[in-house]
Amino acid sequence: MIIVLEPTATDEQVNDVVKRVEEAGFGTRQIVGTGQSILGVLGTPLPDALYETMGLLPGVQQVIRVSKRYKLVSRDFHPSDTIVDVGGVKVGGNEVQIIAGPCSVESQDQILRTAHAVKEAGATMLRGGAFKPRTSPYEFRGHGEAGLEMLARAREETGLKIVTELLNPTDFDLVSQYTDVLQIGARNMQNFLLLEVAGRSNLPVLLKRGMSAQMEEWLLAAEYVMAQGNENVILCERGIRTYETMTRNTLDLSAVPVVKRLSHLPIVVDPSHGTGKWYLVPSMMLAGVAAGADGLIVEVHPNPDSALSDGGQSLTFENFAAAIPPVRSVAQAVGRSLRSGSVEAVAAG
Ligand code: PEP
Ligand code: MN
Repeated sequence: MIIVLEPTATDEQVNDVVKRVEEAGFGTRQIVGTGQSILGVLGTPLPDALYETMGLLPGVQQVIRVSKRYKLVSRDFHPSDTIVDVGGVKVGGNEVQIIAGPCSVESQDQILRTAHAVKEAGATMLRGGAFKPRTSPYEFRGHGEAGLEMLARAREETGLKIVTELLNPTDFDLVSQYTDVLQIGARNMQNFLLLEVAGRSNLPVLLKRGMSAQMEEWLLAAEYVMAQGNENVILCERGIRTYETMTRNTLDLSAVPVVKRLSHLPIVVDPSHGTGKWYLVPSMMLAGVAAGADGLIVEVHPNPDSALSDGGQSLTFENFAAAIPPVRSVAQAVGRSLRSGSVEAVAAG
């Protein structure tokens, strides 16, 4: 339910509305960015009597039913775009952010070299898994805390913000000590306890779409995080499993405008997991930005052939650097901007 208050509503009247909703056992949230006083009522199902009572209270202009199952995530509750601020790097504003780095943190040397290379090309955040979800238990599953330390060192040297996966609620304290963004992976999109743990923190959360998740299920997963009080959610389209075998997943770029229409949350596109093939990644980077994505998350490795995970979809430093200027042109064509890498800045200067 959305309660639109009269522009002339007094504080007393507004407080009375909030009190009545709370007495009925539901919570309220102030809806911002509309220039009018609006309250969202959380809870489902809301009794019909509540709609009637609220509509009659002094100071109330209108009561609107919200039939969507997600509320806080919905644009109905928050009409303006949310900008998630990752220590000064803003996701969801005019600037398109590039998050890049290896699938897994393999060594200090690997992550440092990658961090410098992606920063030079224009990335603002460094990705890399220290806790890796692997289909086979015999594959490399990450260096754990040692990997987080390597990431922290790379942040210290480059200033890049860190994005790394939280695989398990019990690792929350550890991972949150190091990272700037908690990644929740596709396999965990409906791990509701993990979503709630991330929701109880204030750290930005990068929530990947589950590999078989409908968009509504994905938005409801984001609702789990937001319902705990964390409003810093970034959605990530990373491809879904279809019958197609030419690509690892089917990158569903229509998710970008759909999410933009239904939700105020920022969305980034992962063309690496979305295609599974490095030579398809640059085209899908362009397409993602053209579709309106607020950022890209791209796997980059110093030597993809020897990567411990996802080498086949990882770009070399050279290919990554070459992919960025066309992305900037597309960003500009759709009214967005992309930070200059230091390589280009030096060349241009
Ligand atoms: C990853 O980012 O390396 C990863 C495991 O992604 P996803 O959860 O999308 O498969
Ligand atoms: Mn990967």
